[in-house]
Parts: sequence; C-alpha cells; structure tokens
Amino acid sequence: MYSTLVNGISAGLGATAGLGLVAGGCAYAAMWPGSQIFGQSLIAPRRPGELALTFDDGPNPAWTPRLLDILASHGVQATFFLIGSYAQAEPELVRRIVEAGHPIGNHSWSHPNLAFCSASRVEDELARTSGTLEQVAGAPVRYFRPPFGARTPEVLRTAKRLGMVPVMWNAMTSDWRERSADRIAERLTEKIERLTRRGRTANIVLHDGGHLDRSANRESSVAAAGLLVARYKGSRQFVTMDAWS
Ligand SMILES: [Zn+2]
Repeated sequence: MYSTLVNGISAGLGATAGLGLVAGGCAYAAMWPGSQIFGQSLIAPRRPGELALTFDDGPNPAWTPRLLDILASHGVQATFFLIGSYAQAEPELVRRIVEAGHPIGNHSWSHPNLAFCSASRVEDELARTSGTLEQVAGAPVRYFRPPFGARTPEVLRTAKRLGMVPVMWNAMTSDWRERSADRIAERLTEKIERLTRRGRTANIVLHDGGHLDRSANRESSVAAAGLLVARYKGSRQFVTMDAWS
C-alpha cells in the first residue's frame, strides 16, 4: 500500500510537471516515514531499552476489544491512532481504550491522502476528528499520525496549530495483508533487532482496524501484538507516546 502510493505520486507529479527527479524528492519528503524535510515529526528516541506499540485505523468493533484484552493481560500500554468517523460510530469503544490508560491520537476523519487535499479539507479532517475524540474521551488529543504517512508543511502546521505532535514510525510490515501472526511478529522482530543494533528504539505500527472497512479482520495483527509483547516484556519497557513527547 505504502510503496504503491509513493510510486503513484512520483509518476503523477513527474508526468504532469516534467520534473521527475524533483517530484521524486517531493514524494520522498511527503511519504517516507523517516523524512523530516517538511518539518519535525516524532519517530523514536535513542532509548533501546524501550519499545512502543502503536495501532492505526481503529477503533474496530470486531478486533480492538480483543487487542485491549491482550494488552491488559500483560499490563502493557500502547498508543491508538483513531479514525474520526469510526470513533464517532464507536464512542463506547473509544472510552474503553482511554479508560484502560492508552493514549489516543488523531488519524484523520476519513483517512484520505492529506498530501492531495486542500488546506480547508486538511483542517476539516483534523479538527473534526480531534473535536470528536475530545468530546468522547474528555481530554485533549496530543498526537497525530498522517494517513499513509503523507505529510506536507500544511499538514504538519495544521496538526501543530491544533495542539498535536505529528508521529511517524520506524518499524512496520504489511500486517494488513498478512494472514500469519507468526510472520508479522517475525518481520517486526527483525526490524526491532536491527534498530537495537544501531542503538535505536522501535516505534512499531500494527493495524487493529482497516481504513476501507470499519470491521476489517485483524486477527493476525492482533495476535502478532500478543506475540511481540510476550517476547519482549521481560527485556524491554513498553511505552506510549506520552513517554517520548
Ligand atoms: Zn491508517
């Protein structure tokens, strides 16, 4: 999904403007999770004793409750980036996430690629989501993760103006299309270990929801989260974005 988008942007801009290289650079800056060209985003500090689990595209009535049970059974907290329209449809589930002590973040209202949206649409997507989450959770929303990782100066400015820290990631696999929890956990473990060798912390993304389907089957992603927690809870401290911002 991610690489398709990057290629799509490069091809689209290159063909229109005849500036393939420049367009490629823009696409890199807008989409690559590690790029800071358009402004600072939080990824992960150099604290290899810590790990952060983050979950995108929920709340999912079919799978988020199961995930919450798994996290609670291990006494681990994670950060949940919620789609505003889904949160509006599932206020009780949002409250359950918050009451379990997990920070929630803004993942836009309808999960568009914000790099292609007008300034007013970006404002609407973010403000509406924060308004809904704050009404349900009763607390300010402090974190924003752009859908597909797509950000521009306008997107980052809007997030900051609304009081949010943009959050990217450095450990993700295509969990949304992988049926084996073992393979998801294995691929993420390789990334975690590679980051550890470089003295870095992993900011891990898994999907408990799906932006195309509010009740998407996320059995393998949720199970993979359980495998990672079981594997690392004796040696690492699981933290949320609250520890890093
Ligand atoms: Zn997403």
